[in-house]
Amino acid sequence: MHSRAPADPERREFEATVERVAGSDVVLDETYFYAESGGQPADRGSIGGVPVVDVQHGDDAVVHTLVEPPAFDAGDAVTGVVDDAFRTYCMRAHTASHVLYGAGRRVLDDLGYGGFGIDEEKVRVDFETTTDVDDETLVELERLTNRAVWDSRPVTWEEVPVEAAQRRDDVAFNTKTEEGVMADADAVRLVDVDGWDVAACGGTHVPNTREIGLVEILDRSNPGEGLTRVEFAVGPSAVRRHATVHEAALDAARELGTNVTGLAEATADLRETNEALGSDLREYKGEVLDARLADLPTVERDGRTWRVGSVDGFGPNEVGDRLQERVGELGDVLAVVGSGESPYVVVASTGDVSAGGVVDDVTAEFGGGGGGGPTFAQGGGLSGSTAEVLEFLGRPPGGRATPRRRTRGRRAPG
Ligand SMILES: [Zn+2]
Repeated sequence: MHSRAPADPERREFEATVERVAGSDVVLDETYFYAESGGQPADRGSIGGVPVVDVQHGDDAVVHTLVEPPAFDAGDAVTGVVDDAFRTYCMRAHTASHVLYGAGRRVLDDLGYGGFGIDEEKVRVDFETTTDVDDETLVELERLTNRAVWDSRPVTWEEVPVEAAQRRDDVAFNTKTEEGVMADADAVRLVDVDGWDVAACGGTHVPNTREIGLVEILDRSNPGEGLTRVEFAVGPSAVRRHATVHEAALDAARELGTNVTGLAEATADLRETNEALGSDLREYKGEVLDARLADLPTVERDGRTWRVGSVDGFGPNEVGDRLQERVGELGDVLAVVGSGESPYVVVASTGDVSAGGVVDDVTAEFGGGGGGGPTFAQGGGLSGSTAEVLEFLGRPPGGRATPRRRTRGRRAPG
């Protein structure tokens, strides 16, 4: 037999006769436990005082799985107790999914039903729709749903012939997820949220939308082509979420010196200011870097003009970009060593001296890695200090003219 839960969802305690027991699995002559189906989880509770851990549709009966094999046996009378808190949560959450779908009917195009599921913290509804569910649409779905909750619409259910239900084009129908509903083959159960939504559904529902309480939309995603998944919370997790979002909004508004409704504008202003400052900063840094490069000491070597030195406060990419722009103008070879615990080296050349060769010499001496081509190369992770690398590169202290001096046995760059 089927569960009586969908028809009489308020019933929490019932007497039944045990039909059969197999290990921990129990079949009763009738049951008000809801068997998992269509996205609604199985009820919890107890039978004959033994906790129920699962309830499933068997081939010909509802099978209750207990936490352990029971002491009772076939023919015994037992009391079934359905866990009130979990069932009530499922009824409210499940009915909320119908109300949300009804909201979808009002804002989403080419709507079809794509599935539904309840877990302890949240509920998901999958919409088949061509509408891009953006933030505005999401908020509108939430607003309409909570409005329909407040409007206290009656929720009713009845069995109707399958053909009659299929002829109605206003029924949300999904034979895939609602197979439990179609089990009888000749009848289907229609759940009607008065004036708002009609769906073929075998779950448990509250008799009025006001029993749903607060609905908080959590997130949206796209689980597949043409599908939009909307996740929401009801009950304590919805209340928690509401408080969290409210607190975050107030915190942000306080930081920005505005109120919650002014957040978007204040944030946009802040971003604009930040971008302008970033742009100014890049420009000024560029000017500073240019000035530093122009100040680097010059040395003539084999008829080429080298500029070798270090700069503070700039990364290898910033320096590299600038060196490539200024080489030729400032010298034939520009070699900059970054300061810091692990200096880098960046070399730009007009091409007569191989930039890659210079960097290879430096990394051969100081370790690290890097490389490049004839006109540009860089290396990093050097083990020497900035001063040591500079000395190796032959920076002429006080205008020393001959850079090819061997230093502590090190090989000079070629
Ligand atoms: Zn339902």
